[in-house]
This record gives sequence, C-alpha cells and structure tokens, in this order.
Amino acid sequence: MPDKKQNILIVGAGLCGSLLALRLAQRGFNVSVYEKRPDLRKVDISAGRSINLAFSDRGIKAMSLVGIQDKVEPLCIPMNGRMLHDTKGDSYLSNYSGREHEYINSISRGGLNALLLDEAENYDNVDIHFNKKCQSIDFEKTTATFYDYKTKTEFVEDADVIIGTDGAGSVLRKSYYLEKKFLFSFSQDYLTHGYKELSILPTENGDFKTYKNALHIWPRGEFMLIALPNLDGSFTVTLFLSFDEGAYNFNNLITPQLVTEFFQKEFPDALELMPNLVEDFLENPTSPLGTVKCSPWHYKGNTLLMGDAAHAIVPFYGQGMNASFEDVVEFDQVLDACEDDWETVFKTYEKIRKKDTDAIADLAIDNFHEMKDHVANPIFQEKRKLEMALEENFPEAYSSKYSLVTFNEHIGYQEAMLRGRAQDKAILNMLADHELDLNGDLKTVLEKVKKETEAILEDDRIAGLK
Ligand SMILES: Cc1cc2nc3c(=O)[nH]c(=O)nc-3n(C[C@H](O)[C@H](O)[C@H](O)COP(=O)(O)OP(=O)(O)OC[C@H]3O[C@@H](n4cnc5c(N)ncnc54)[C@H](O)[C@@H]3O)c2cc1C
Repeated sequence: MPDKKQNILIVGAGLCGSLLALRLAQRGFNVSVYEKRPDLRKVDISAGRSINLAFSDRGIKAMSLVGIQDKVEPLCIPMNGRMLHDTKGDSYLSNYSGREHEYINSISRGGLNALLLDEAENYDNVDIHFNKKCQSIDFEKTTATFYDYKTKTEFVEDADVIIGTDGAGSVLRKSYYLEKKFLFSFSQDYLTHGYKELSILPTENGDFKTYKNALHIWPRGEFMLIALPNLDGSFTVTLFLSFDEGAYNFNNLITPQLVTEFFQKEFPDALELMPNLVEDFLENPTSPLGTVKCSPWHYKGNTLLMGDAAHAIVPFYGQGMNASFEDVVEFDQVLDACEDDWETVFKTYEKIRKKDTDAIADLAIDNFHEMKDHVANPIFQEKRKLEMALEENFPEAYSSKYSLVTFNEHIGYQEAMLRGRAQDKAILNMLADHELDLNGDLKTVLEKVKKETEAILEDDRIAGLK
C-alpha cells in the first residue's frame, strides 16, 4: 500500500468526496478537501439537485465500512415499494421485494452529506476548505489551481495524489480531454427528458399527506412524476418530462394556466396535494439528465476520478450515490490488496470497477423506460407479481433484477445486469407464449424460469456478451 504519510488532495466535498476523505483519514493519510460551495452545515444550499435520494444496500455497506451505519439510520425513511398512481386516481403498492427485510430508504442529501463531513472532520489528518473552486488541474505536476470566493484570489495546491470527486461536470475530467496528453475516451449522452423538483408540503399538523413508506410514481408513458418522503412530513416530487416533445413539455409549460391544466389532466390526485404547484414549477430550475462514461479514470499514479466525475448516470435506478459510495468500498479493498504504488492501485481499481459502473449506467437507462411506461403495462405487472411470489416462497433461490441490483451488494452491477436481464427475458417470453402455469405448482414455475434463464445466459456467453 502507498506510504501513509502522503498528502491526498480531494476536489469536491459532495457525497463521494466526503466519504472518501473519511475513509482515507481512517487509513492514516493526510487529506485535504476543497469544495467550491459554502459549508452546507452552515448555509442553506438545498436549492439545486435532488433534495432526497433513494439509499440502499450498496450505500449502507459503505457506511458500515466507516462505522457510521447507526448514525445514518435515523436519517432514513424506509420505502417498501412503489406506490403506483393511475390516471383514474387509483393507487396500489408494488413491493420492491418478496423478502420483507428488503426495502430502500429515502434520505436527505444535505443531512447525509453533513454527517459525512462531521465524521471526516473528527480526524486531525483531514482539512476541509469551502468556497474554493478548482479552476484547473495539472496532472503531470499533480497540482491544482483554486479560486477563493471569499478573498477573490487564486492559489495553487501541490499534493502527492489528487482525486477528483467533483461530480458530473468534473474539472479533472475536463483537464484530461482538453490537455490531449494521453488517449482519453469520453462520452456524454443526454436524455431528451429533463427534471424539475416540486413538493408536497406536510399537513398543518406536520403529518404526511399521503402514504409515507413508498416511492410514489405516476407513470404516464412518455413522462412521469415521482415523490419521495422527507423526515419533516413533506415529499420531494420530481417531474421527468421531455424538453420539447409531446403536447406538454418543459419548453411550453411557461404559464400558471398551462401548468395547472397539465396537472389537472395528467396528475389530478397529485395536484390535490400540491396547492403550491404553480409557484414551485415556475420558480424551480429545470435540469438535464445525462450519462457520462470515460476511460482511463486515472493519469499514471498522479490523479484519479471517482463518483459521478468518473461515471455520472441517470437517476432511474436510484443508484448514482450508492454506486459512488461503492466506489470507495472497492477502492479501499484495492488499497488492502495492493502492495504497490498509486499507479498500480489506480489501474487495478479501474479494472475491477469500470465494468460495474458501465453496467449500472445502462441499467439506469432501462429503468427510465420501465418506470415511466412498463410499470403500468399488464404483462410487466404479471411478471412483477410472479417474481414477488418466487421471492417470497423461495427467498434463497430467486432474486429479481431489481433485487440483484439493489439488495445484493455482494455481487457486482455487471453480474446483476446479465442475470437480471436474462431472467426478465425468460419470464416475459414465457408469459407471452403462455408457457407458465401461474395457478399451478410454483416450484415448477421456478425451475422453468431458471432453466430458461441459464439457456439465455449460455447464448449470451457464446455470443461473447459475457
Ligand atoms: C435528480 C437526481 C436524482 C437522484 N437520485 C438518486 C437516488 O435516488 N439514489 C442515488 O443513489 N443517486 C441518485 N442520484 C445521483 C446522485 O446524486 C449522484 O450520483 C451523487 O451525488 C454523486 O456523488 P458525487 O460526490 O460523486 O458528486 P456530487 O454529489 O455532484 O458532488 C460533487 C461535489 O463537488 C463539488 N464541486 C464541483 N465542481 C467543483 C470544483 N470545480 N471545485 C470544487 N468543488 C467542486 C460540488 O459542489 C459538490 O459538492 C440522483 C441524481 C439526480 C440528478
């Protein structure tokens, strides 16, 4: 393992950067973190991106690694399933798993980030600097130039290693492709849809206006609305909608009348809970959604990208933060195993990790279509019902794709994707061909699904997909 006396500079004190700082401090390194925004524990900077997030087993595993799972638990609201709201105003709960102990949580981004910063700052070998924006990184010299918003001056910091956890718009990543000093591959794919955050406020007594322990979804084919609960009794609501396609889109929803008309037509039951809709809608920003893939993530043993900076994904699997936390767990394991220098550590880490972050990026796109459309489709609902029964009756033998991705932190995203997709294909094909007797013996159904899944996986192996 590299020498512990070394100075590690982390750019970005978001979710990944603050967890990484904490873990590296626990390992004994000297850690300096530079964050462009003010300290979120002192200033309210919640306006921006996703106020709350779905937090699940891969993220929880990372909290266990740094020993703070008991402090994270009070920040969590369990969500046992998706509460689906149809156009008639009816709703029904579709559990995430047939195993009772498997659920996801709603957690406040600010609350979790503040906890991670507090925990990191408990270590003498960590310094966190706010209001300091990284302008550029010289990855040959391992130096970073910052602008201090308070003193309005620029300064340069030197380090043994620089790790960029500066999110989807990473300055380190930008320096890799702008400098053109090595073969750096990069792709950025935007969805035609963007998102806007809205809210359902608590009742006058501070209670939740609708069922608390679910992720609410109003799937409408080409667009959707979702809502996640907050500890104060409110829900953060997110509208995912095309920028310029369809009768209603972000570009044409510009007047209070049109916004109200759209919600009256498409989400009347949600509108009833949102008297503040028009104000939220016209005041809150509309933001794009994209996937970033790149490689290599590192330059020699000098610099490394981690979290969204290396692999930003669309939010539809609720895994971006969980994956960024899992990055820290995997990196930690590589540090345990590697006797060598930083270059070997970075290379080994990327080799192990990239296939999995590529997989969750693709799965997140799949889930975009599943959430806005397929969840309301009868054959999909039949499949969900069957999978729920299989998980309930054969908890050791069957896990749906969702469970493999979300609740099976001991396997990588790539393995979850390959097995999960094969299972989906097997079940949907057999349901469409009426080959599964859903009223018959469930064990026979399980065996058929397993056999067909193995056959598909074998075909994939032969085709070189695995
Ligand atoms: C709408 C939406 C919903 C989401 N929902 C979920 C969910 O339910 N579950 C889930 O797991 N994930 C979710 N995600 C993804 C999740 O937000 C990200 O994956 C996660 O925040 C990544 O953490 P990060 O630390 O890598 O990046 P970030 O959280 O973006 O943090 C980067 C930090 O770097 C700082 N920074 C940036 N540039 C500079 C600079 N030049 N100098 C210094 N500091 C800088 C930023 O201010 C920030 O603090 C969602 C994302 C969106 C957009």
